[in-house]
Amino acid sequence: MTDTLLNPVTAPATSPTPASRRSVERLLAHLDFIAEHSRHLVSKSCGRFESQGQSYALPRYLFVGPKGGGDTIRLGIFATIHGDEPEGALALTRFVSALEKNPELATGYALFIYPVCNPTGFEDGTRHNRNGLDLNREFWKQSAEPEIRFLESEIWMQAFHGIVTLHSDDTSDGLYGFVGGAVLSENLLEPALQAAGRFLPRNHSPVIDGFNARSGIIQSGYHGMLKSVPNLDYPPFELTLETPAKAPLHRQADAHAAALETILTEFRYLQAVAQNI
Ligand SMILES: [Zn+2]
Repeated sequence: MTDTLLNPVTAPATSPTPASRRSVERLLAHLDFIAEHSRHLVSKSCGRFESQGQSYALPRYLFVGPKGGGDTIRLGIFATIHGDEPEGALALTRFVSALEKNPELATGYALFIYPVCNPTGFEDGTRHNRNGLDLNREFWKQSAEPEIRFLESEIWMQAFHGIVTLHSDDTSDGLYGFVGGAVLSENLLEPALQAAGRFLPRNHSPVIDGFNARSGIIQSGYHGMLKSVPNLDYPPFELTLETPAKAPLHRQADAHAAALETILTEFRYLQAVAQNI
């Protein structure tokens, strides 16, 4: 089930993409292959923009799991908002492959997956986008960046129950994460870090990235980082997962994928309990 009109990247014929440049299309080839053959996964970009004469799409995939007992739970999962962190996009490929083999893991869920939130930065191999901005400092500040406008609009429109963002940190030797939004976020991050801990050690430092941390959990965050709409009465849970960027790539992908599977299981359980109170 793929929309052939919505290729992740289309370079104009007059300026061919240099062979050396990293390609979003290649990065997402396996996800696109799954989408073409899947009953659960659809590929449909959420917007298109121009950068230096090239046209880019912001890739989006929707994985719909088997129907559960209650209302469908909508999660937004975001990766590679820093262009030099393809680990998150690769982890999402691994995660979706696991769901495709065992769709019951996603029972009750509609998963909105944004594997490359910074396509120009990914192509250029830079943390920032091609306009020189750290997109993870631009949210809810009336940013003019098209990537931010598309992603903010998704966050508004889809009214997610939960938001998960994947990162890879080259200054950390272990796993850690940020929590925000709903109070129960910490109850999800702890088991997620435990699951990821099967593949990589946790960062137990009392200060990580300049923030106070407890067992790898940070309760605050950067102004302008990817979050839900500000000041909601009932905010979604918000988790940011960080893997140590110097660890082997496959371990980072395994760690992120294990954390995501655990979040699905734990949040479904918490929702079921809440609906029965
Ligand atoms: Zn990052």
